[in-house]
Amino acid sequence: MVKPDGVQRGLVGEVISRFEKKGFKLTGLKLFQCPRDLAEEHYKDLKAKPFFPKLIKYITSGPVVCMAWEGVGIVASARKLIGATDPLQAEPGTIRGDLAVQTGRNVVHGSDSPENGKREIGKAFDALLRYYHLLNLSDMIT
Ligand code: ADP
Ligand code: MG
Repeated sequence: MVKPDGVQRGLVGEVISRFEKKGFKLTGLKLFQCPRDLAEEHYKDLKAKPFFPKLIKYITSGPVVCMAWEGVGIVASARKLIGATDPLQAEPGTIRGDLAVQTGRNVVHGSDSPENGKREIGKAFDALLRYYHLLNLSDMIT
């Protein structure tokens, strides 16, 4: 997922390009505004952290781009392409190492296991389906 800072800074194409060049296949792509409840659920393991309220504010501060990527070893490889959580610790050549300086504005999220990847893709694309349904546009995407 490209986080709100990445979207606002016009880095969506850059992120997609790095994954494509590595050899992964883009199988899902949605721009959407993450609702607060979904953001809290997504980061529930960090609920006790002092930065949790700021993290939720950040993730819900503007549109995000949710992506589904497919390929051999995608989860571990994506984590490598993304780099360390703190951009100042991330290696040059990684997305965070090249494009960010703050942990609280680190451009991208990557799932940390195949199970969480499936769950997160399900949630993100599900929330969008609910949204379309509310707008009565569900027939457009069935
Ligand atoms: P990652 O995104 O690398 O998997 P974590 O799962 O540990 O990292 O944390 C999730 C997100 O929470 C980070 O990407 C970052 O946006 C935010 N975060 C983590 N640690 C901090 C911190 N110390 N201060 C502010 N934000 C943080
Ligand atoms: Mg994480």
